[in-house]
Amino acid sequence: MIKHIFFDLDRTLWDFEKNSHTTLLQLISHFNLIGKGIDTPESFIKKYKIHNARLWDLYREDKIKKEELRSKRFLMALAEYGIDNKNLAEQFGLAYIKQSPLQTNLFPFSHEVLSYLKNKYTLHIITNGFEEVQHIKLAAADLKQYFDVVVTSEKAGVKKPNAKIFEFALEQANAKAEQSIMIGDDLVVDILGAEKAGVQGIYFNPNKEDYKEEVVHEIFCLSELMTLL
Ligand SMILES: [Mg+2]
Repeated sequence: MIKHIFFDLDRTLWDFEKNSHTTLLQLISHFNLIGKGIDTPESFIKKYKIHNARLWDLYREDKIKKEELRSKRFLMALAEYGIDNKNLAEQFGLAYIKQSPLQTNLFPFSHEVLSYLKNKYTLHIITNGFEEVQHIKLAAADLKQYFDVVVTSEKAGVKKPNAKIFEFALEQANAKAEQSIMIGDDLVVDILGAEKAGVQGIYFNPNKEDYKEEVVHEIFCLSELMTLL
């Protein structure tokens, strides 16, 4: 008997790629990066994404702090164009953190599915994002209304896929593992992580990525949850 449903936020409900892209385009224009030496916004974004992904891996492994992650990803992208400007990278990084959470693009059917599920289950969030950033996203995208407990890795003190964050969330939600489901777009971080804590997962795979792991439940569109649950 399932009573609690835990959702990941970024790339599961909140369309991280679309929202990030929109913000980056706005800031590239605002800080006049073309005039400072980058070739095209798209090429800068591509380089930024490579550095961001690498630095996020380090952050996830606790090898760098969030302040470092926030400006260094831009510092390194700018350096690819011979722009050595720590102040610009810091300003850009701060503006990005301030503006991107205000973007409101969600995956299709987010509101429909959450309204449907809210009538049958208690809903919660487990996210590896930053505390202050994730709450702004939830409010801006009008998602706050659906969720009971919101657990960020900052609040829990550990990040997914560590079983402790799922255990922490279960405790906060007053939920039992066997009565809970975790839904997320990252097979290792969300689904295998949750399974380590005894919580079954539903893998949200909108881009139909290949994988080798054994997956019990998989969906390609959030709307499938309305027949599954
Ligand atoms: Mg995610």
